[in-house]
Order: sequence, then C-alpha cells, then structure tokens
Amino acid sequence: MARIETRCVQGGYTPKNGEPRQIPIIQSTTFKYDTSEDMGKLFDLEASGYFYTRLQNPTNDYVAAKICELEGGTAAMLTSSGQAANFYSVFNIANAGDHVVACSAIYGGTYNLFAVTMKKMGIDFTFVSPDCTPAELDAAFLPNTKALFGETIANPALCVLDIEMFARAAHRHGVPLIVDNTFATPVNCRPIEWGADIVTHSTTKYMDGHGGAVGGVIVDSGRFDWTKYPGKFPGLTTPDESYHGITYTERFGLEGAFITKATAQLMRDFGSIQSPQNAFLLNLGLESLHVRMQRHCENGQAVAEFLAAHENVAWVNYCGLPGDRYYERGQKYLPKGSCGVVSFGVKGGRKAAEAFMKQLKVFAIETHVADARSCCLHPASATHRQMSDEELLAAGVSPDLVRLSVGLENKDDLIEDLDQALRSI
Ligand SMILES: *Cc1c(COP(=O)(O)O)cnc(C)c1O
Repeated sequence: MARIETRCVQGGYTPKNGEPRQIPIIQSTTFKYDTSEDMGKLFDLEASGYFYTRLQNPTNDYVAAKICELEGGTAAMLTSSGQAANFYSVFNIANAGDHVVACSAIYGGTYNLFAVTMKKMGIDFTFVSPDCTPAELDAAFLPNTKALFGETIANPALCVLDIEMFARAAHRHGVPLIVDNTFATPVNCRPIEWGADIVTHSTTKYMDGHGGAVGGVIVDSGRFDWTKYPGKFPGLTTPDESYHGITYTERFGLEGAFITKATAQLMRDFGSIQSPQNAFLLNLGLESLHVRMQRHCENGQAVAEFLAAHENVAWVNYCGLPGDRYYERGQKYLPKGSCGVVSFGVKGGRKAAEAFMKQLKVFAIETHVADARSCCLHPASATHRQMSDEELLAAGVSPDLVRLSVGLENKDDLIEDLDQALRSI
C-alpha cells in the first residue's frame, strides 16, 4: 500500500478510463434498476450495489474507503457527525443490560452521550482514569462488558491514551478497544497498528479541516474475532431476523461484519447518513491532511513553548513539551507531533481566563477546534458546563483551562496576539 501522504491524496477512488478525476458527487437519493429481481438481491445483501442513499451512496463510499486505507482497516462507513459515529460504534455491540468501560478523559459530548443518553437506553458505563494502572483497568470490567473506549488525544484534556495497554486489557476481557482518533488523525497515529479494533472520528475537525462540514466515520480493523466468545456478541454472530436472517460474521467475515451490521441495522433505523455534498468537502480536506497536520503541529509546538515561558501562564498541556505529563507517551504514539490543540491555565483563574479571552483578536471564540483558523474556548463556561466540579476534574478540565486550537496562520502573528492578551490582564 502507498505511503500515508499518497493515500491522503489518491486513496479510495481510482477512476477508470475517461471517468472524472475528482470523485463525483452522486446527489441522488435513489438508484434505478431494470427488474425487481435485481433490486431484491440488493435488499437481501446478496449483491452489492446502491438503492437508497440512507443506506449507502457512492460518493460516501469513496471517501469512507479513503479513510479506511488511511487507518489501515478493512471496512468503514461515514456518519452525519462524530456523535453518530461514537454512538453507532458502541451501540452496534452493546444492548440494554450491557456494560462498557470508557476512559474518563473524553470529549464532553461523548461523555454525555454515554453517561446520560445511552444510560437511559439501559447501557451502563464505568469511567476509568487515563492514567489508571492495568490492575485498575481490569477491575472496571464486568461479565457483561462489551467494549472499552478511549480517545488517542483527549479533547480537551489532551491526555495521550496508552493504546497498547488499553488494547491488552480489552483483549484480556474478550472485548474490542474502540479509539476515537479525531485529534491525532491517521497522519500522526494509527491506533489499529497499536492494537485498537475499531477507530472513530469526528471528521468535522482536522479531516475536513476548514470548518465546512460536520461529519463522522467508523473504521473496523477486521481483527476482532466476534465468534470466539459464544453468546457475547449475538448481534454479529446469530441470525438478524430484521434482515432476512443474515448472520453477519458468516456472510461478511470478520473483515466486513461490524460495518455491514452498522449499515444494515443502525443506519437503516437511525438514518444518520452524511450528505454526499459533505463527503465531497471532506475529501477535499483529506487531500491536504498530511500537509496541514504538519503545519498545525509546528504552530502548536511554537505556541506551547511561548506559553510555557510566559509569566502570566500557570501551566501548559501539550505533549510535545519535554516535561509534559504525556511527553513520553506522545513520543511513542505521536512521533510526528500531536495536533494543533494546546491547553493552558491563565494565572488568576476563571476570571482572568475570561478577561484574556476578551482581548484576543486573531484567535476567535468558538466551540469548534481543529480547522485552518485559530480559535479558543473556555470549556468550564461553555462545552462542559453541564458537568459537576468533580466530573470536570475527572475529565481533566480545570476552571482556568483555556483551549487553543492553533490554526495555519503565521505563528508569529498568533504568538503576538496571545502575548498582548496575556499582558492586558
Ligand atoms: C468534536 C468531537 C466529537 C463529536 O463530533 P461532532 O462531529 O461534533 O458530532 C467526538 N469526539 C471528539 C474527540 C471530538 O473532538
């Protein structure tokens, strides 16, 4: 397989003689067939093809195939958002009465999805510290645990996950490790190479990279053997009465079972499809992902070093800084750099942080992260405001924390903006 840069540019779509060089946007809800029998075969999943865009669309499939190549998986599906991707990735294997172990340092939206909304659906979660020992991690598993979940680089805490340690624990307990790889992107880390079984993304972030389209993706490594644990993953290993009695692992093998089930059941019933227009925009972003990530990391490193030396800064989290709590893990899992997200504490706490935010001119206040334009957020008063102080600290978010998303501008302009705002408080 080609190198990662070439996969970013050319993966997933190989036009034949005379076909469009850029992936075509198939802006059609439906597809036409000559006979009912032809269409029937598609509905029975006996032949592959398109019939309705809620289930599959060629544009989306090209882009999913590219991301699948980038992560080194065997199958992938696009979703309408990162939230949908994480929901499907867990709900595809955990039902009411089941249990999931998740790292506590995760995106606030994912935390809420797990701890509140999926709990209402009858799925229980146990949250573990990103710095837990193998023994503490083992202790979180129950007989009905169906998955372990974590983020490569936690948003916004910026903890780096010990993917190998988490993968070993998951496999000891006979469940897959699901890793949300949004911040690292497959350019900087490919969790499957470290033992993860399923990878998710909010493609809204670096993959799109321009703040243009909300989206998500799920990639399956094809390596988790669902059939090894009889009775544990019945949705994959026993007939699906809602889909003509198909057994996904039998019909599609380990390489295709998980994504086919997620498409045939979850996308069919919940319908969180990405629009082909958005998939096209996502692909434009992917074509330059490797170039942009390098610059995001360069600028992020420069900003982190500047902040670490500033008298009005209490602390900085960036795993590229020697002495950072996650420096060693970063060197191991993210040798090319982490991302452009840097978090730090303004001296003077919550009030000073709010005053600092008001003075910024180049950095804009946004809940968004990870696009070309630099932006910043004070999570305790925005995205994480539903959380109690205890939950905030467990997620690694202190009241003085400011999250910067360092963009692709000239780094000196960014540093000057931060400097004048810090000096003004
Ligand atoms: C933003 C984000 C999500 C949610 O993605 P949406 O596309 O906004 O639904 C999930 N995980 C991480 C790590 C994120 O940063």
